[in-house]
Amino acid sequence: MRQWTAIHMAKLARKASIAVGKKGTDLPGQIARRVDENILRKLSEQVDDIVFISGTNGKTTTSNLIGHTLKENQINIIHNNEGANMAAGITSAFIMQSSKETHIAVIEIDEGSILRVLKEVTPSMMVFTNFFRDQMDRFGEIDIMVNNIAKSISNKGIKLLLNADDPFVSRLKIASDSRVYYGMKKYAHEFEQSTMNESKYCPNCGRLLQYEYIHYNQIGHYHCQCGFKREEPKYEVSTFEVSPFLKITINNSTFNMKIAGDFNSYNVIAAYTVLRELGLNDESIQKGFESYTSDNGRMQYFSKSNKEAMINLAKNPAGMNASLSVGEHLKGKKVYVISLNDNAADGRDTSWIYDADFEKLTNQDIETIIVTGTRAEELQLRLKLAEVNVPIIVEKGIYKATALTMNYSSFTVAIPNYTSLAPMLEQLNRSFEGG
Ligand SMILES: [Zn+2]
Repeated sequence: MRQWTAIHMAKLARKASIAVGKKGTDLPGQIARRVDENILRKLSEQVDDIVFISGTNGKTTTSNLIGHTLKENQINIIHNNEGANMAAGITSAFIMQSSKETHIAVIEIDEGSILRVLKEVTPSMMVFTNFFRDQMDRFGEIDIMVNNIAKSISNKGIKLLLNADDPFVSRLKIASDSRVYYGMKKYAHEFEQSTMNESKYCPNCGRLLQYEYIHYNQIGHYHCQCGFKREEPKYEVSTFEVSPFLKITINNSTFNMKIAGDFNSYNVIAAYTVLRELGLNDESIQKGFESYTSDNGRMQYFSKSNKEAMINLAKNPAGMNASLSVGEHLKGKKVYVISLNDNAADGRDTSWIYDADFEKLTNQDIETIIVTGTRAEELQLRLKLAEVNVPIIVEKGIYKATALTMNYSSFTVAIPNYTSLAPMLEQLNRSFEGG
């Protein structure tokens, strides 16, 4: 009865909070937990496989890739939303999505919530992406955090899926006898930020780790005098390209992803490891991997018939340079739509565009550039100064400017600044609807 009341009240709370315009992801869980403190324990016991995804970076992408791939294979899942990765949000996901046909839960969990949530739920698998320390953290705090996580997950029979290339993640092997490693071969790819920022010490004995190869930061191939070393991965990336989307080879299977950014390669291999350990084969994984794209305007991909587009937010010179170099990786002609607004949220001063490297467009095969936003003319002037000799169209309406790109058969590269993102994304979604 208490359980029924808890669930009922939680669902009412969600309806009420949606009615006032909030997403309502934490609130149902908060209310249910007040009515029945064992609600999460009870609901989680009805699910066969629970996968927890944790780590400093990449847990949302990893968990969304897993979730999307299972759904593409007609497998029902319980899945929490980005930002709802603490006890209340996780409880909400179980309440709103539990059903008799649902046997798998894919749950992103904040590192700081592991101790609390594991008192109520024992996952069958946990995958860890990486551990980076915040700039504010003092040295040594990451070791303490890793040891605390190890303590809270040990002796529970949880299968650990560990990034062999991250010594901090690999350290968690002390917490379980059931371990699967994933990683990346030496020379698989030259990462954009391939240098190590600081010396890395062995999490086992404190000596300086010896690196034979570094992918980026502390991620690489390492060993220590004490015997602590990179373990042999069961699933390993042999090579990957960024063009601008990832083409990645894992254990002899190649996946043409629709996500960009070289750091995402580790999220791809983490997701792959979970899916294989859940029993999916490469063909089923391909179905999900090759149709997954982000939905937040960050390197988001669109396609319909033969028309393709991608959008990437740029609100400073570095972001603009990254967006402009997307075109360098794309074969064939391009049409650009670039927007510059100067609303309060964008910052009134738009002079940063003079620090961005628009000159690199002179080396690209471009059909037309459409400039838009409140400061469209400023962009037009900047392109002229960069001596980009292609037709430039000024269309201040962002919706109209974005829609115009559909008149060109070449690849659309859409680059909005902050307040231009929503209208540009909305128009692309509309133009590519049903694609
Ligand atoms: Zn050592």
